[in-house]
Formats: sequence, C-alpha cells, structure tokens
Amino acid sequence: MDQVVVLKTYSREPTAGGLGGAALTMVSVFDRRDEAAGPVATLAIDDQVPQAREADCDALAYELASEVPPVAVSFPPLSSCTVDECAKTRAAWLRANHDLFRVRQMLDFVASSPPEQRAFLWAAQGGSESGERLMSYESDDVGPNTALEFYFGPYAEYRLQAIRIAYARLWKIFHDHEVGGLQLDIECTPDGPGDICNTTRPGGHHAVKSNMKLCDKAYSTPSQAFDVPRLVLHESMHHMFVPWQNTTPRLSPIMDTHTHGHGALCAGQLVTDKGYGLKKIKHFASYENDREDDCWHNNFAFRNNDTYAYAAATIGTYIRFGYLARWPLEHPPEEQEEGYLPDPDCGTPGVNTPPPGFSDPLSKCYKSNGELVCPGAHGGLLPGDLDIAVICPPL
Ligand SMILES: [Zn+2]
Repeated sequence: MDQVVVLKTYSREPTAGGLGGAALTMVSVFDRRDEAAGPVATLAIDDQVPQAREADCDALAYELASEVPPVAVSFPPLSSCTVDECAKTRAAWLRANHDLFRVRQMLDFVASSPPEQRAFLWAAQGGSESGERLMSYESDDVGPNTALEFYFGPYAEYRLQAIRIAYARLWKIFHDHEVGGLQLDIECTPDGPGDICNTTRPGGHHAVKSNMKLCDKAYSTPSQAFDVPRLVLHESMHHMFVPWQNTTPRLSPIMDTHTHGHGALCAGQLVTDKGYGLKKIKHFASYENDREDDCWHNNFAFRNNDTYAYAAATIGTYIRFGYLARWPLEHPPEEQEEGYLPDPDCGTPGVNTPPPGFSDPLSKCYKSNGELVCPGAHGGLLPGDLDIAVICPPL
C-alpha cells in the first residue's frame, strides 16, 4: 500500500441551541487505490485515548461552524496555516460545502418540476418558519434576495441548465480538489511582501490555477460565517468553463470582468468592470433599457463568478442560521386533486403536497428525478438536518 485515505468521524450531541462540541469517535484508514474494499484499520476513540483537542484543527472547525448540520466533507490540503487559521479555513469550507448543497437542492427542485412551473419557482422567494418574507441582511437597498431570479435574472431553460452544470462542477472541485488536472490547495496568509494579500489586502485571491490564498482579512472579518464561505466558493470557481446553448452551442468561461453596454442600442455607455458584490450582481440580473431589452446582461449573470458565490453563500447562510426555513414561500398555481391526503411524514400539513404541487425542499421533502426525497422522515432528526437519505415511497 503506497497511499492511504484517513477518515475521521466526529459526533456532536444535540443541544438546545443546535449541535454541541465535536468529539472524535473513530479513525479509519483506507487503501487509496481500493477504498471500496473497506477500511484496513480502524480505531474507536474513547476517553482512554489521549487527545490534544486544542491542536485538532478538524474538531475546532466543527465547533466554529456549529450551525452546519451533519454533512460529509472533504477538506483540501492547506499550507502555512496556524491551528487557528486552519480551523477557520475548514469551518469556511464546511459552511461553503453546505451552502453549495442547498443552492443545488433548489436548482434541482426547479429542474425536476413540471416545465410550466419552473419560471414561477425560479422567481419564488423564501421566508422564515412563520412564513415571513426575508429581506437582505446586507443592505436595505438590496431588498429580498432569496429567489434564484435575484441572482441569475429571469428564468430561461438554457440558463438553468448552464447554472446547474457550473454548480455541479464546483461540487466536484469541493470533493476531489482537482482544478484543471492540478490539486487545489489553500495557503493561509502568505508572507511575501509582494503578495496581493499584503499589497491590496483582499480577503483572498488565487495566484496560479489551483492555489488559493486566504489573507489576514479572511481570518479577522467579523462575518466569518458568511464572508469566508463566499470567498472560498468564489476562488474555487476560477478557470471554469460552462457550456450553454441559446441559439448556438457555446462554451464560456466564468469570470470576474465583463464589458456590458446600455441604452437604446445596447452599444452606449460601455462599462468594463468586475461583477463583485450584490449591487453588480443585481445589475446583471435585472438591467433593462427602455425597450425592455436586457442588452445581454442576463447572459453575463450566469457567467459571473461572484453571482454563484453570493447565491450559494447567502441562501446557505440564511438556512444555516434558521432565517430561511421555507422555500418557495408561495406555491405554483395548480389544480386541486380531489380526495388527496398528504403523507404525514412527507407532507406539510395543510398544503396539498407532495407534487404535482410541491412540498418544502429545505425542511421537508422534495422531488428529485421523479423520486420524493425527505429529510429524516423517519429518523427523528431535527428540522434543517441535512440528511436526504430517507426516500419516501413513490406516489
Ligand atoms: Zn450594465
């Protein structure tokens, strides 16, 4: 055996406020060339095994990101990180992993809904447990920002497909840590005086294709739980191409910088800038000239790096902290079927669900590829648990 995979299993006890501290319960070692054969060695961890908790980056990361429901995660290699930086980086990775899962869950739900309902679901906002619509936590000017339409513009089938492909690729990068054949690694607070971290001082940047650098700002921002997951999502998306087809098949890079025209002929007021932040994201998603022409802005929206990062991290953060508990807030208009009763485990009481209507994919059930999937329908998990292993019987 020349390469091994080490799997560490942590458990967290439920507490009144969520999940408690992470305790290492098992370490297993697999032959990397034959993981399917099962572990070649395992060690159950109990009180008898000495542990240095303060030096266990993974345990610290789980404690920092204690609002993240149980989720399998694969951490990329880190370099030149202190234990504190390591824990914060991995906490951000855990959160981003969750957030990516959530936005894909929404997209999959739209894609598996009947075609006539997709535009409705695309524009649908989310709300709190009590059904209150959410406004942006960033700024009053932004308004409600829980609909896919807010980030990616009006619904179009070809854009839905392209966005799903891009997020699927990002998910793959998050799990196999491979960017264009190179291994993704994250470097903490590089020392070099010429490094962008130490000159223009962003939260992070990437120098070469697979090397992501996180700077001081990423470890000191007061909004660690949102900013850093957003940053690692953003930086992991560089060098990605997405296929799309409106009229002709195309393959386009996802980028930061775009040149967009405005006005009656879409040729005036040419602006070349980076699509960073919610205002720019909103601009690409919603610009229209006097003739209600978007001047290709909507097609920039789904090729703008930060749009993907903001969509996932915003929706994911709202869900992690319990602000966003329902989506869509309103259900697509539908014909009532007579005598239909929802399954008590798989349906939302009082709502005609499951489909052809819909149930709540974020806290209850959703339909994926024709299969109804419910979070912990029989396992007694808490609402919001990220367990989609329970498959409800087909209708
Ligand atoms: Zn513009």
